[in-house]
Amino acid sequence: MTFPANRMRRLRRNDALRALVRETVLEPGDLIYPLFICPGEGVRNPVSSMPGVFNLSIDEAVREAQEAAKLGLGGLLLFGLPESKDEEGTGAYDENGIVQQALRALKQSDAAKNLVLIGDVCLCEYTSHGHCGVVVKSRDGFDIDNDPTLELLARTAVSQAKAGADVVAPSDMMDGRVAAIRKALDTEGFGQTPILSYASKFASAFYGPFREAADSAPQFGDRRSYQMDGANMREAMREIELDLEEGADMILMKPAMPYLDVVHAARERFGVPMGAYQVSGEYSMLQAAFEKGWLDRNRAILESLLGIRRAGADFIVTYFAKDAAKLL
Ligand SMILES: [Zn+2]
Repeated sequence: MTFPANRMRRLRRNDALRALVRETVLEPGDLIYPLFICPGEGVRNPVSSMPGVFNLSIDEAVREAQEAAKLGLGGLLLFGLPESKDEEGTGAYDENGIVQQALRALKQSDAAKNLVLIGDVCLCEYTSHGHCGVVVKSRDGFDIDNDPTLELLARTAVSQAKAGADVVAPSDMMDGRVAAIRKALDTEGFGQTPILSYASKFASAFYGPFREAADSAPQFGDRRSYQMDGANMREAMREIELDLEEGADMILMKPAMPYLDVVHAARERFGVPMGAYQVSGEYSMLQAAFEKGWLDRNRAILESLLGIRRAGADFIVTYFAKDAAKLL
């Protein structure tokens, strides 16, 4: 059948009809809100390249959690800015590290009952050199030494689970980290703690503003020897497959917008819960356009998130989580 029997516009005539035939829905519970925790009390330091995003002391983070819970968000993803950094990133796996303290405080607050608390597991915020693993000298200058890094990541995951993390999320892209973390969690009695692996994480220019927020820019070199080349789809599928084999319970795709085809391909191929991270650059670029008055703020926020859901993500990590929840 064709026109005039078929008229696609019949179902677009009003809000009620459009809502009835809507294929993809966005809900506050699908959104995860990242928080950057810093030392101190009553601290709310704005991140200049990410309007609306702050470095928060623990008391302020608890306040944010209360608001997040009230808005019905799905969870929080915690990053830490430690008091001091060193070569081995000891702040990442210190029992009294900044994220561990925040997890304990959040667990004690009422807010956290309805929020999934996710600990970002990586070393780059805690190492003086800003890389995600142990740095060693090599023929080419330096190298990120994979295997010794695994133990430090596993310790980080265990210490976060001990402090109250509901989920641990390794973002480092070292080979074998999921297996190492799973084994350590199981050995330490955290067999029920799920792993959300940043399975497909591309080396991306869109992480720029995050490095200011988390103070985690590499002091030399870049991360291309461990994060993936943006050109590679097959490699992304292989990374995911390996992480699942090693015991990942959920996968996280990062960035989102420039890699929606990868999100979609992963959705077609893997039947596991999958999230996508609308990264700092995606956020800042939209914020810049809003400041200029070039885009309709509310519509653009929701459309950017809907696109990620439509591509196949079950949940989205986004700095717009609170804004979006208010609009839904
Ligand atoms: Zn890292």
